[in-house]
Amino acid sequence: MNRLIVYVIISFGLIYSSAIKSQSLSNESSSIVYQRLKKVNTVASVLYIAAHPDDENTRLLSYLANEKNFKTAYLSLTRGDGGQNLIGKEQGEALGLIRTNELLAARNIDGAEQFFTRSNDFGYSKNPDETFAIWNRDSLLYDVVLAIRKFKPDIIICRFPTTGEGGHGHHTASAIIAEQAFKAAADPTIFPDQLNKFEIWKTKSLFWNTFNFGTTNTTSPEQLQIDVGVFNPLIGKSYGEIASESRSMHKSQGFGTAKQRGSNIEYFKFLQGDSVKKNLFENCNSSWSRFEKTEQLQQQINECLKKFNIDFPSQSVNDLIQIHHQLNAIENNNSLFQHWKKIKLKEIEELILSCSGIWLEANSANYSAVTGEEISISVQAIARNSVNAILKSISFFNDSDSLFMMNLTTNKFYNFKYLKKLPTTIQNTNPYWLNKSPLQGMYHVSNESLIGTPVNDPQTKIKFDLSINGFNLTVFKSIIYKSTDPVKGELYRPLEILPPVTINFNEKVIVFPDLQSKSIKLIVKSQTKNLKGILRLTTKSSCKIILKDSVINLLEKGEEQVIEAIVIPDKNFSSGNIEAIVQLSNQTVGLSIQRIEYDHIPYQFILSNAQTKLVFIPLKKVGTKIGYIIGAGDDVAPCLSQLGYQITFLNDEQLTKDNLNQYDAIVTGVRAYNTIDRLQAHYTKLMEYVKNGGNLIVQYNTNNRIGPVLAKIGPYPFTISRDRVTDENAKVNFINTSHQILNSPNKITSDDFTNWIQERGIYFVSERDVNYEAILSMNDPNEKASDGSLIYTKYGKGNFVYTGLSFFRQLPAGVPGAYRLFVNMISLPKNK
Ligand SMILES: [Zn+2]
Repeated sequence: MNRLIVYVIISFGLIYSSAIKSQSLSNESSSIVYQRLKKVNTVASVLYIAAHPDDENTRLLSYLANEKNFKTAYLSLTRGDGGQNLIGKEQGEALGLIRTNELLAARNIDGAEQFFTRSNDFGYSKNPDETFAIWNRDSLLYDVVLAIRKFKPDIIICRFPTTGEGGHGHHTASAIIAEQAFKAAADPTIFPDQLNKFEIWKTKSLFWNTFNFGTTNTTSPEQLQIDVGVFNPLIGKSYGEIASESRSMHKSQGFGTAKQRGSNIEYFKFLQGDSVKKNLFENCNSSWSRFEKTEQLQQQINECLKKFNIDFPSQSVNDLIQIHHQLNAIENNNSLFQHWKKIKLKEIEELILSCSGIWLEANSANYSAVTGEEISISVQAIARNSVNAILKSISFFNDSDSLFMMNLTTNKFYNFKYLKKLPTTIQNTNPYWLNKSPLQGMYHVSNESLIGTPVNDPQTKIKFDLSINGFNLTVFKSIIYKSTDPVKGELYRPLEILPPVTINFNEKVIVFPDLQSKSIKLIVKSQTKNLKGILRLTTKSSCKIILKDSVINLLEKGEEQVIEAIVIPDKNFSSGNIEAIVQLSNQTVGLSIQRIEYDHIPYQFILSNAQTKLVFIPLKKVGTKIGYIIGAGDDVAPCLSQLGYQITFLNDEQLTKDNLNQYDAIVTGVRAYNTIDRLQAHYTKLMEYVKNGGNLIVQYNTNNRIGPVLAKIGPYPFTISRDRVTDENAKVNFINTSHQILNSPNKITSDDFTNWIQERGIYFVSERDVNYEAILSMNDPNEKASDGSLIYTKYGKGNFVYTGLSFFRQLPAGVPGAYRLFVNMISLPKNK
């Protein structure tokens, strides 16, 4: 008998279910099992290549995966770290982690697979030259070639052209790299080190999936066409419907889309390789007949499909076992055959499990554990269809097997309890690409076998050895934590392996506007029982740190100790970091935890060095009270409170009732006018506030499909455009050097525009009423200058400012010039 391994991983490999957190490995309906059975007959694959999460054509992917039954994958060059987050405050790497999981949630619906490269999304770039100046082109090519050699696609489809109609520089770069990799993957002289594990691969043809994005139409009637608007009765949805569910997983980008029904044509342009006349797939034999000695196999699969009984799928188990034996016995050394054999044997094993109605799960009593900890695990098993199932053994973390030989009576629920010690070789859970600081444009991945994979493989797997109608099968399941929420119902979360203690500073950046001492706070949280240790803070900055308490003594897991420290700058004080560690009896731990929790993706967190940034920004300020209207979410308010401002968050009720004249300035958070339609109701009151002498500072809002402006903003009309300056070092010109925003109370110079991050700003003003005055002008290389980054007008006794400058990125990063400029806007004096 064969001893085989089936990897079944929670939250993946389940097609057509939504709501990731409430997802268990349920047995599938007969129609889905039948759909997957049909797939066993198809041996062809398609790789789709683009640059970001959301670039992929989910309609085409779901059609290819479920109508053509091709093995279909999307290779996104980046994880989308550089975009704006529409659902929360996470930016950069944390946003990339959200989008990685959104892509997996999307693939879970449309049935395609997901790959990445090590390139990171550093923000918008206007052309591929700008992109390749930051990405390491060689490493990127390496990763794309590796993906092709591993996946062996019959055809590759690009979303974008090399000629620039795709807009974003990353888009064009993705097409350039795809063309290059298409050739390079077949060339044994390129990246020969990959050939130790994988062979060269010659993809038959490369296509461009042309598009009509409204503003740009690259489709034309003479191009190759596929009608992807087909209805799939087994799934009960058209591919336009599946595509919308899949695309709507890109929630952090606001890509909820309507469901399309009826015929829908996709267009393609042939680019390279074997040319085609009518059909993308005319050079691909997608059936088993592409391989020798498979006649009987095909016959058996067709027979199994014909005999499939939707009421009794278990009747197909023996046929599937025979198909497995048949495929396994075919002797054909062709490496492509061997590639497909492995894939299809696994699919057949999963079908045997599904047809048997076998459900297996391993739950821990807590959602987290530390290495070496003893945890209680309950293992549950049930065979719900009538088969002869035996649970032969269960083994934990490569331990010796717990012998069973337990016959699983049909539909009887088995629950076994264990106390098991987690091996000390298990490491803290962390996204593998975030374990080390990224290189410029590129994530650092030290374990080469992880390159291209979407997320870490769970470390805590349990092995089930089963016999089903005499067929031996091994199933791996990772340990999960399951709870029941009174509102949401049953929730799943992966078992987290955490350090024994985590240390989080309350603020990521501590700003010193002068040499006064400051109190800072840290939260030390125990992730295990009976934690005893000593907290130590270190810094290379010229300052003294007095810890109010350094003894950590936490009895219970999850308990927290809030500790205060005073930072006393001396006269040579300059910017730097404070690092925190807790010294335990057997080890030193210095990690903080950032949790990311949304309903549409599994629970996430990032462990990183416990530190905070000290920034010395000598500045003068006027005023003390700021009213802050929270928009889509940003960290600007806590940064301003670092300077000593008192911040009041103004909600709808306060905007209605409060006397706004008490505030020296009212600041709106990013995209407030996109997310709060009630601002229309408060427009008159806000204008009265300005007229009476207040300062209203409006940070960027978008004006497009994702975020139309919902209310009037300023006292006079202006138009928000998509103009932006993405070069964070772009020269900034002062239009009127004597303007008070540039002079009072802090003199702004070109130095204040050094060390900015990612970009200068976005969504600049294009047209404006004559009453507005433009303060700054700037442009990206080879572009016309824009003067819409910061506009100002007097209104009555007060002042109004709209700014697209990306303060929401610069202030949390501790960029001194951004603080000084922001303070000047808050400090604008009353007009006579
Ligand atoms: Zn994109």
